[in-house]
Amino acid sequence: MKVYFIGAGPGDPKLITLKGKEIIEKAPVVIYAGSLVNKEILQYAEKAKDIHNSAELNLDEMKEIFKKAKEAGHDVARIHTGDPSIYGAINEQMQVLDELGIDYEVIPGVSSFQAAAAALKQELTLPDVCQTITLSRVAGRTPVPEKEALRELVRTRPTLALFLSIAQFADIVETLKEGYSNSTPIAVVYKASWPEEKIVRGTLEDIALKVKEAGITKTALIMVGEVLSKEAGASLLYDKNFSHMYRSGE
Ligand code: SAH
Repeated sequence: MKVYFIGAGPGDPKLITLKGKEIIEKAPVVIYAGSLVNKEILQYAEKAKDIHNSAELNLDEMKEIFKKAKEAGHDVARIHTGDPSIYGAINEQMQVLDELGIDYEVIPGVSSFQAAAAALKQELTLPDVCQTITLSRVAGRTPVPEKEALRELVRTRPTLALFLSIAQFADIVETLKEGYSNSTPIAVVYKASWPEEKIVRGTLEDIALKVKEAGITKTALIMVGEVLSKEAGASLLYDKNFSHMYRSGE
């Protein structure tokens, strides 16, 4: 018996891995993150007798479900949104499983920052422009260590993706201006890969009003950086003067 932490992907039920889908198809017990996992993913749960929404469970209640599944010898598909390693709160569940002596495995998923890049048809790393992606958030109910305060992160002007932060958007834009120039492109992607997906593009100068007018207050990623500029450096990789040797992948 095993617990499988499965990344469901960002929303589109086809953006789950084959491996994740196959495990869900066989699992007698399913626990899914009801707030963000697309319910259509549950259609894959053909054998499940027991389906729980983790939004309605505390850790002790989840522990009970894991314990009962162990007694019954039933595998558990624990379905998380996006990729489980990013703001997935899997660590505390793994500690519980260690206590119970239950084995577990993680099946990665497509994270929402990747789905947002796809929605924007955007490469996040461009030669001579930016080779670093920072994934972060601002503090909400969950604190953020002082060393990673947004004003620190903007110093090197990375391609920046902010999760869980849209509610504080106006303040965030002001802090971004401490590192990036006012003309830096920024995009807000609401529900990337869902039918109701919405994209708002602008610069640090004009984005706050646009996002307010679009009424986006949750389930959105904030993507910032010079790479989002249409004029940003054309990739050297396929340039005729760039040695063939480098195309093999450094
Ligand atoms: N593990 C998830 C992130 C969970 S935290 C992942 O890898 O994507 C929840 C936050 O993720 C939301 O507040 C929002 O910022 C972002 N998010 C999740 N799904 C999203 C989507 N489809 N489009 C845009 N942002 C999304």
